[in-house]
Amino acid sequence: MSPRARRRVRGTTAEVEARVADLLVQVRAEAPKGPGTYRFLGDAGTVLYVGKAKSLRTRLLSYFRAAFPKEKGARILRDSARLEWTPEPSEFAATLSELRQIKRLRPRFNVAMKRDARHYCFIKVTQGPAPRLLVVRGAGSADGGRYFGPFLGAERMREAVRELSDALGLRDCTHDGRMRFSDQGEIWPPPPRTPGCIRHEIGRCLGPCVAAPTAAEYRERLALALAFLDGTGDAPLAGLAARMAEAAEALAFERAAYWRDKHARLEGVRAQFERLRFAVESLTFSYHVPGADGGERVYLIRRGRVRRELDAPDAAELEAACEAVFASGLGGDAGGVPTHEVDELLLLTSWFSRFPEELARTRGVVG
Ligand code: SF4
Repeated sequence: MSPRARRRVRGTTAEVEARVADLLVQVRAEAPKGPGTYRFLGDAGTVLYVGKAKSLRTRLLSYFRAAFPKEKGARILRDSARLEWTPEPSEFAATLSELRQIKRLRPRFNVAMKRDARHYCFIKVTQGPAPRLLVVRGAGSADGGRYFGPFLGAERMREAVRELSDALGLRDCTHDGRMRFSDQGEIWPPPPRTPGCIRHEIGRCLGPCVAAPTAAEYRERLALALAFLDGTGDAPLAGLAARMAEAAEALAFERAAYWRDKHARLEGVRAQFERLRFAVESLTFSYHVPGADGGERVYLIRRGRVRRELDAPDAAELEAACEAVFASGLGGDAGGVPTHEVDELLLLTSWFSRFPEELARTRGVVG
């Protein structure tokens, strides 16, 4: 939106000041002191910003104290025509509700959460005839690729993914349309080598661009990579260790050191996967927090995501819900985190590391 159009939405300085003054009167008169979420809305009722607060009143009043016109709070106020809020029974409920509203409404000013998400990267397994692994910043697209993560350190992760692809002979190029397999038939003359890529010639790629492997051979290698990523297989590490041992036995120490370094880089990734898996696995329990009207709200959390919420459940209701959520055992969904659940996993991981005392409100679940 151009500055000129924006001025039309906001109105004259006097109109903006009058609107801000009205909002302040509303907050002073009505905003509750407890936790909740709030929304700033523009002229057309579009939600511009969603926030949450432990005390709605204190947080909302702070917007009117923004000292500089360029501060985010001041900019939100200038563009807002209305303000509404929803009280929540606990700060956790407000935090979760804020996340869900942001995902649903995608408000323009909620850049802070986007910035948080950029700290993390994910390993994506692409689709197509010869899938490849790549490191991406976000995991929000709906392209059907499978994601592993979140991880910290995109550059380190890129190196590790390169090692993994090299170790298993997976491609790392972007020529999706030209992948063929030797058992595909009708491949004569064989496709020419891809200009600028020698990975097949030096044994780092099975070479689906020149129809070298069969489809099954490529799928097998991809399965080994997926098993490594979800912690159920060690084939890439074992392969590198064997080459290292072979080189050492032949007294080719430089070569052995080369394989040793590759092995160490992949081991580093494995350690990061394990830490993540531990965090995810340990976030499996029921979490009991204050609910509305003095009752209790129970969140059933499995592998870092809230699967059910119950308000003041009786014992039978809670038992039935636990049975439904946890019945299939705790190892049943050990793969990557589905993209639409990543934000919630990050939220829960951060919540329990910021407030470890909250773990006292959890009850373990026997898998
Ligand atoms: S050898 Fe072919 S398939 Fe493999 S990375 Fe290079 S261009 Fe891609």
